[in-house]
Amino acid sequence: MTTAKDFLCVSILIVLFLLFPIQKSVGNDKVFTVVIDPGHGGKDPGAVGATAKEKDINLAVSLKLGKMIAASFTDVKVVYTRDRDRFVDLDARANMANKNKADLFISIHTNAVAKGTVRGTETYTLGLARTEENLRVAMMENSAILLEDDYMQKYEGFDPKSSESYIIFEFMQNKHMEQSISFASEIQKGFVACKRVDRGVRQAGFLVLRKTSMPSVLVELGYISTAAEEKYMKSAQGQDQLARAIYDAFVKYKREYDRKQGGASASVAVASKTDAKPAATTGQVVYKVQIVASNKKLASNAKELKGYKNVDFYVENGLYKYTYGESTSMDEIRAIRRSLAKDFKDAFIISFKDGKKVK
Ligand SMILES: [Zn+2]
Repeated sequence: MTTAKDFLCVSILIVLFLLFPIQKSVGNDKVFTVVIDPGHGGKDPGAVGATAKEKDINLAVSLKLGKMIAASFTDVKVVYTRDRDRFVDLDARANMANKNKADLFISIHTNAVAKGTVRGTETYTLGLARTEENLRVAMMENSAILLEDDYMQKYEGFDPKSSESYIIFEFMQNKHMEQSISFASEIQKGFVACKRVDRGVRQAGFLVLRKTSMPSVLVELGYISTAAEEKYMKSAQGQDQLARAIYDAFVKYKREYDRKQGGASASVAVASKTDAKPAATTGQVVYKVQIVASNKKLASNAKELKGYKNVDFYVENGLYKYTYGESTSMDEIRAIRRSLAKDFKDAFIISFKDGKKVK
């Protein structure tokens, strides 16, 4: 007999289920660790503008970026080299990334020039600077070690202000160069999308990247020495946009990483362009990519699914229709479809609203 108490229990279970839908299993159980490194801090202000300090901009954008990532991915661990205003040695930052066995390292900085008004963003990967300008940026950033104790011993006599010291970067093998450059390019694309001046992907000898043993980039968000850029980078809106641009690049990088691992990025919660939190999808159109249809239900290892994990399906007209990925952003779902094209050349985008397919 069903009692009122049973009914209450079942109701509570249903409510809980609606509130906390079961997470789809993640293709591989490995946690992806991203280390976010807000440059400078504490006694080292970094570049100083008319009203703002580099260290504060770097920290604000880093924390926003970390929150966006943590809110969207269940399988990503975010580690900060600092989450408040404190001084951290450059080699300690790299060590932290290595100790955490990080999969990606993002160092965040703000640029400045002594003369003139320069605008725009640059993303660096480790390498030998091919221009005076890139060398100057590395010199400026590396000079942070002059505030460290025992920097002569720690960095084996490296003089951040002498161009001769930088010869060590010429012979450095960087096995993560390709991935670093690809991530750096995505970051620059993200900045272009929010109308920043694109100063490109560059190489220079940054000490903070030198000892990291994973793909790593150093982002220069803009020029604090240029009044309009300082104002933008100081504003909450500017910081949100900058963090969002890097976040978008991260989403693409992580998806590619998952694909290479043979897993999938079902862990990507719904990425909305305007909100760091996963958007509630009730009443909203959710896009998915349809990859395969079958007249019978397929096993998860069926050859038709080509090794993709976290594939979803719905039934329509007696056919099982399999989908991959989901997003409320048309741009994002298009990117997912493009990434699927070589395995499923006829894949196409479909839309759902409140769990039902819509035209
Ligand atoms: Zn800096």
